Amino acid sequence: MKLYSTKSPKQLHSLKHAVMKGLPDDNGLFMPESIPTLPIDFIQSIAHYSIEEIAYHVARTLISEEAIPSSDLKPIINKAVNFPAPIVSLENDLHILELFHGPSLAFKDFGARFMAQTMSYFNQKEEKDLVILVATSGDTGGAVGAGFLNTPGIKVIILYPSGKVSDLQEKQLTTLGNNIQAIEVNGTFDDCQAMVKRAFLDQDLKEVHRLSSANSINIARLIPQTFYYFEAYKQLKDKSTPIVFSVPSGNFGNLTAGLMAKRMGLPVHQFIAATNSNDVVPQYLKTGSYIPRPSVRTLSNAMDVGNPSNFDRMDDLYCSTWNNIKKDIIGKGYDDTQTRQGIKEVFEKYNYTIDPHGAVGYLAYKEYQKDNPNTQGIILETAHPSKFIDTVENEINTKVTIPTRLAELKHKEKVALFIENDYSQFKDWLIKFK
Ligand SMILES: *Cc1c(COP(=O)(O)O)cnc(C)c1O
Repeated sequence: MKLYSTKSPKQLHSLKHAVMKGLPDDNGLFMPESIPTLPIDFIQSIAHYSIEEIAYHVARTLISEEAIPSSDLKPIINKAVNFPAPIVSLENDLHILELFHGPSLAFKDFGARFMAQTMSYFNQKEEKDLVILVATSGDTGGAVGAGFLNTPGIKVIILYPSGKVSDLQEKQLTTLGNNIQAIEVNGTFDDCQAMVKRAFLDQDLKEVHRLSSANSINIARLIPQTFYYFEAYKQLKDKSTPIVFSVPSGNFGNLTAGLMAKRMGLPVHQFIAATNSNDVVPQYLKTGSYIPRPSVRTLSNAMDVGNPSNFDRMDDLYCSTWNNIKKDIIGKGYDDTQTRQGIKEVFEKYNYTIDPHGAVGYLAYKEYQKDNPNTQGIILETAHPSKFIDTVENEINTKVTIPTRLAELKHKEKVALFIENDYSQFKDWLIKFK
């Protein structure tokens, strides 16, 4: 398996290079040179496979034996994919794919855990530990921290803005311990990110540490997101009614992985790019012009993105041809009033509690279904509703049950190093960090 950068398709790189580097030097995005299809036999007999086996076969198809031998790929998969992705059917033609059963209760666990395992694998012959720096505005830090927890040879330092993440998010970052260190910065998310960026360019730090990032566009986060599209298909009782995936989207990694799954032979009739008011991609699908703009705050805040970083990957998959891309993807955007209405409707009609991100996906499929009744929809539910408990309880007038692993955090003690928004303070500490 070789990869190219979307900005220089002729030059090929190894998987190790792409995973350890995250971003190519030319600021493009790494893409697999080819996306092979799975054997038809596999798709037809998919019901016989467990989620780990599906993940293994899909990964094996994308990742060559030369890049990671089978004997190493199997344990990587088994450690990364160790929680289920069940489908809940609300109607015969309406299903919810629950992607929140991992440690941080969001679908980002799939990407973060696989990335942690592959980085650790590629790092194992190194003498020095790899030190990963992450700046987070909330959710990414929790998923990345939990993903890398106890990973040999890797230490993770998470910088977060003091007072600007929710209490539970803060607990998710600051109670992991072991190889995960939280730093509470007296500043904003942008300040945290600026410190991380400066550290990567700092020669003094390079002499002491091997630094790396856990970038959200690392190819090792994209690959595992293809797995659950197959896992969803496996669970459908009726496999003949055309399948529509409605994907609540922000940076569009999730949807890009779905498009790759389709290339690999998964029978998908249609994808829906479901967004909140940050609807740059639905606008592009409608008009053919891609016009990024500053993001606005919404209830589904993990999708508040004004210039989605995976857009170039989608564009690349369709050879920058609008006519092709709009055949596979339909775009729809909804504002907060509609999102609230969606949460309420799902609860009243189906007695199912959906989070604000999933609600956007639900609204999009419902609208699509009016014009396309002979289809079945799979809504990707990207976070557990208890992560957005205030918004959700407000709409459904019922208490949302908090899963034990989240509820337990309340009683755990926060451990974080507090620093001022001062690079030299951070640097002095990092130089001594062991
Ligand atoms: C990150 C996130 C999204 C958006 O996923 P993308 O791959 O960036 O499009 C949607 N929902 C939740 C809960 C998320 O955390």
